Amino acid sequence: MKITDHILNAKGKTLFSFEIVPPVKGKNIQELYNNIDPLMEFKPPFIDVTTSREEYVYINKSGLLDKKLTRRRPGTVGICASIQHKYKVDTVPHILCGGFTKEETEYVLVDCHYLGIQNVMALRGDARSEQKYFEATKGGHAFASELVGQIQNLNCGKYLHEEIESDNCADFCIGVAGYPEKHLEAPSLQSDLKRLKEKVDAGADYVVTQMFFDNQKYFEFVDAAKEIGINVPIIPGIKPIAVKRHLQLLPQVFRIDLPQDLIDAVDDCKDNKAVRQVGVDWAIQQSKELKAAGVPVLHYYSMGKSDNIHAIAKGVF
Ligand code: FAD
Repeated sequence: MKITDHILNAKGKTLFSFEIVPPVKGKNIQELYNNIDPLMEFKPPFIDVTTSREEYVYINKSGLLDKKLTRRRPGTVGICASIQHKYKVDTVPHILCGGFTKEETEYVLVDCHYLGIQNVMALRGDARSEQKYFEATKGGHAFASELVGQIQNLNCGKYLHEEIESDNCADFCIGVAGYPEKHLEAPSLQSDLKRLKEKVDAGADYVVTQMFFDNQKYFEFVDAAKEIGINVPIIPGIKPIAVKRHLQLLPQVFRIDLPQDLIDAVDDCKDNKAVRQVGVDWAIQQSKELKAAGVPVLHYYSMGKSDNIHAIAKGVF
C-alpha cells in the first residue's frame, strides 16, 4: 500500500516507522532481522531501507601499490523484497541520483515494480567522501527533483527512450527529503523550501525530514512549507543521540543545531550507556509532543541497532 494511503487509513492516528541500513558486503542479513523483530510489536506500516553510493577503497597488499576498488553496500531492493515477504509490511527503498545513471535507475525501478514495492524515496545523495561537492554521475541526475520526474514518467508508462511507451504503468508513491534547518548547501531556508516545492510539483507525494532535536524547528518548517503551497504530508524524522561523539558529528555533518539542555545532559554522562539513555529520554519527549500535535508518522533513524528505538516506541506508542 502507498504511504499516503497508510496515512489516510490511520484517520489522524500517528503511525510508527523506521529506517534501516543494509549490512556491509559480506555480512549476512540475520543481524538485520534480529534488530527488526522487536520493533514489529509497534506495527510499522512501512520500513525504509537506505542506499549508499559507491566509495573508493584502497587496498595495500604486501607492500605493492594500493589497489583502488569501488564498493557500495549492496542489496537495498533485495532487502526490501525480503522484508515485505517476511514481515508483510511495506518497504521504501531509497533511490539515489549520485552513483547511478538514469538507465541503472530505470532498471532498479522496474525491479521494484515487479516485486510489488509501491513506495520509493527519491534522493540526490551526498558527495563521495573524497569529493568536496556533489557531482552528478555521468548520465545521471543532478538533483532529486529530476529523479522524481523520471519516476513520475514511469508512473505514466514513459520509459527513458521515447520509442518505448507502455500502458504497463508503475504507480509509485514518491517520498522526498526536507530540511527543517535547511540543507547544508542551500543559501537560505527559503530557497531550500522553494527547491522542496519543485520536488513536490514534479510529483513527490510526501516529505520525510532530516533529523532535528528542537520540535519548534519542525513546526516552523511545516508552517513555512504550507505557506508556499506544499500540501503533502511532512513526516518528522527522529534520531536519538547514542554516543558522546554525536555532539560534534551531527552538527558537523548535517549542519543542525543541538539544544543546550541536550548538550548539557550528554556532557554530564559518565559513559556512552548513559548517553544512550539521554538520547532515548530526549526522543521520547520530542515524540510525545509531535504526536500530540498530530503528526502523521513518527519515523526513526535506527542506524542498524534497534534497542534504543524499541525503548522510545515503548514510551510513546
Ligand atoms: P536535492 O533535493 O536535490 O537538494 C540538494 C541541494 O541542492 C539542496 O541544497 C537544494 O536546495 C539544492 N537544489 C535542489 N534543486 C536545485 C536546482 N535545480 N538548482 C540549484 N540547487 C538546487 N543519502 C544517501 O546517500 N542514502 C540514503 O539512503 C539517504 N536517505 C535519506 C533520507 C532522508 C529522510 C534524508 C533527509 C536524507 C537522506 N539522505 C540519504 C541524505 C541526502 O542524500 C543528502 O542530504 C543530500 O545531500 C541531498 O539530498 P536531497 O534529495 O535532499 O537533494
